[in-house]
Amino acid sequence: MIPIAQPLIGEEEERAVLEVLQSGQLAQGPRVRAFEEAFAAYCGVKHAIATSSGTTALHIALLAHGIGPGDEVITTPFTFIATANAVLYVGARPVFVDIEPETFNLNPALVEEAITPRTRAILPVHLFGHPAEMPALLEIAERHGLVVIEDAAQAHGAAIEGRKVGTFATGCFSFYPTKNMTTGEGGIITTDDDRIAEQARLLRAHGMRQRYYNEQLGYNFRMTDIHAAIGLAQLKKLEAWNERRIANAAYLTRRLQGLPGIVPPSVRPGYRHVFHQYTIRVLEDRDGLVEQLRARGIGTGIYYPRTLPAQPVYRGLGYDGHFPVAEEAARQVLSLPVHPALTPTDLELIVEAVREGIPDR
Ligand SMILES: *Cc1c(COP(=O)(O)O)cnc(C)c1O
Repeated sequence: MIPIAQPLIGEEEERAVLEVLQSGQLAQGPRVRAFEEAFAAYCGVKHAIATSSGTTALHIALLAHGIGPGDEVITTPFTFIATANAVLYVGARPVFVDIEPETFNLNPALVEEAITPRTRAILPVHLFGHPAEMPALLEIAERHGLVVIEDAAQAHGAAIEGRKVGTFATGCFSFYPTKNMTTGEGGIITTDDDRIAEQARLLRAHGMRQRYYNEQLGYNFRMTDIHAAIGLAQLKKLEAWNERRIANAAYLTRRLQGLPGIVPPSVRPGYRHVFHQYTIRVLEDRDGLVEQLRARGIGTGIYYPRTLPAQPVYRGLGYDGHFPVAEEAARQVLSLPVHPALTPTDLELIVEAVREGIPDR
């Protein structure tokens, strides 16, 4: 079976974890600090604040910007549920705006009409590793005095004209095992803003600047040194892995281009897509193709089969509304394996399986 995702854990990670275990310092300590510095340097940003997950990174980033009850946050209906859930955690209301068909990302042309006097922030997602259209979104935010928080959970190393995601605004990354790099579970916030960084550090650890002196209501959303040690080893390999993902994607697109009923992913000029997922559109009988691929030992994923406002949890909160582009994407998308562990033979098997799995015309 060729899996849709495969975390790559080597001897470096094993050795690093063992060292932490033997050091006796298991919780947040020097490795977390070192990982934060290394990740900040990698992105080209002043501060990085490690957290227990991508979800808690989003939660803290929203709190650090003072977003709370009564506020509205504009975001995409086509993402992993954590993006919008974090908005609910702080008592604010996610306002969904439809996506662009080419990149599956928040459509800046539709953002402005969703702005109300309650709007405080825009929360775009760099879905599948393709950067959201940050220049247009930042321009709108500037004009309306809005905060921007980037959900970069799927986009470590993605960039626009050489500028990495997570540096355009406050960035939130995830290190879940299927992401482009992992710490097991983990997340990180990136920012150039000293005040936001300080707030995020306080909120991550019970609002505690000095030991047992608690200034505000905080949380335990810390990363451990065990996880940070894995992250330090993974970060050294991230660029080589991203290059492999990009090369694998280029190969798949070259071979799948022009097949009837299949639309390979597109990359906007000047944008660096790091292919967390290689997501095609299947215009007819997606279920049939999934079945054919499974029979040939190819794992696939549907990210995502439903828009967020159509999820029972959001329906229960009174959400409805029609997001035609996101809904069509939910019906058509299919992610194929693109991860760095694929061999040339694997790639060939994937291409052959898709070619033979689509209906004859
Ligand atoms: C993975 C992911 C998250 C959440 O990260 P966790 O580390 O799983 O909490 C948030 N947003 C998006 C878009 C994601 O893909």
